[in-house]
Amino acid sequence: MVQGTKRRVSYKSKACAGVPKEAWCRVEGTHEAIVDRASFDAAQALLDRRTRSGGTGEPHPLAGIARCADCGGPLVKVSQLYKGVRRSYLQCGRYASSRPHPNCTRHSVRLDALTGVVEERVRALVRARYRLPSPERLLSPGEAEARLRRERAEALELQNQIARRSRALETLCLDRADGLIGREEFAGMSARFREERQALQARLDALEARMRETPPEPPGLLAKRAEALLRLDPMPRELLVLLVDAVTVGERRTDGTQEVSIRWLL
Ligand SMILES: [Zn+2]
Repeated sequence: MVQGTKRRVSYKSKACAGVPKEAWCRVEGTHEAIVDRASFDAAQALLDRRTRSGGTGEPHPLAGIARCADCGGPLVKVSQLYKGVRRSYLQCGRYASSRPHPNCTRHSVRLDALTGVVEERVRALVRARYRLPSPERLLSPGEAEARLRRERAEALELQNQIARRSRALETLCLDRADGLIGREEFAGMSARFREERQALQARLDALEARMRETPPEPPGLLAKRAEALLRLDPMPRELLVLLVDAVTVGERRTDGTQEVSIRWLL
């Protein structure tokens, strides 16, 4: 909790003046810690970093985080008109400031696309860490029941098919012993039955392994709230800077892809 960040210049005047940070009244530990102290300090330092707001008053979501993979410098925001639409891009600040004889290459990436990638990775990381099942893995009790019924029926069908191949192989052996079929015919047919039986058995094994997996727990209240937090769109910059130390962006490859890697603050 922080109080007294502004102080009346005079009790007769309503005007306020900024008070140096050291003079703020700060009471530590009045709120339960959601993140540990070190992460908090790191995030605070990052939020304090000089970030250009581009005239809107708000720094963009990746300001102070996005970096060039080749020179390590910050990426800066630029707007470009593309087919009549103004779009925001990030590009290497060193490249942008040293043209026409650039010290680095462009490393241009659409801000909305990069933000989307980073947000998705943050969601995946938080889900994995707190063992939150992804929404598509959660089934209602009715859906879970229906899936189990389908899987049992499929397993039974596979077992029947496997048994049929085994019986066919036995019959084939008897026919061969009785001289009803020739050696080559026997070899060809028995190989085919064996292959089919093997493929069916592999499908059955995979299905049974899937059926043995315990279904994800239905989310508790905390998980539901964490999910709601993760669904916020756009993701609050505060959440990003608490978790992400740096996002480095590589130069665009000839196939149009770019390497994006994240260094976590965890
Ligand atoms: Zn660069």
